Amino acid sequence: MKILIDNGHGSNTPGKCSPDKSLREFAYAREIAGMVVDDLKSKGYDAERLVPETTDIPLAERARRVNEWCGKLGTQNVILVSIHCNAAGNGSWMSAGGWCAYTSPGQTKADLLATDLYSAADVALAKYREVFPVLQAKGDYGSVQKPIRTDYSDGDPDYEARFYILVKTKCPAVLTESLFQDNKADVAFLLSDEGKKAITQLHVEGIVKYLKSGVK
Ligand SMILES: [Zn+2]
Repeated sequence: MKILIDNGHGSNTPGKCSPDKSLREFAYAREIAGMVVDDLKSKGYDAERLVPETTDIPLAERARRVNEWCGKLGTQNVILVSIHCNAAGNGSWMSAGGWCAYTSPGQTKADLLATDLYSAADVALAKYREVFPVLQAKGDYGSVQKPIRTDYSDGDPDYEARFYILVKTKCPAVLTESLFQDNKADVAFLLSDEGKKAITQLHVEGIVKYLKSGVK
């Protein structure tokens, strides 16, 4: 099983950062992806980053790389997780927060992988979930915000969207939005050692849970 970890965007992608520029999505996603890969490797899994480059690699090339592995190893022996941070606005601080994952529309193995990532997020983000309502009462998050964002309209927790990296790749693929880069409280958590550890852990544990479930 080849585990491909994609890190969104590149150093030349405009926008995609916190309003105070303390968090840049491409750099953060790469840092987390690197730690996820290292941790999976230390556990004996065959993991690697899809985009080792720091510049943005077009989505078509990212999908081509994934599908090349699918051709080499068989689609059932490859999974893809694409790591991103969410944003609610266009350059100013916003009140949305929380973690979520996306799959392509319809039920595939990706939905099972996403559900395992959600279970892992519940555990890894326990502290974040605990503090969330306290910060919400202070106004750091809007009143309808939730620490784990879900869409149960199709019976499972993930959101579904026709994102290129999800629909153009042949293997199970999940895109995670790890908190909001334009929410002050989320950015503080993301940039903390505890936050980086939690975001890394949720990806690693979710992937391991999926692989151990024998779905493949
Ligand atoms: Zn992104």
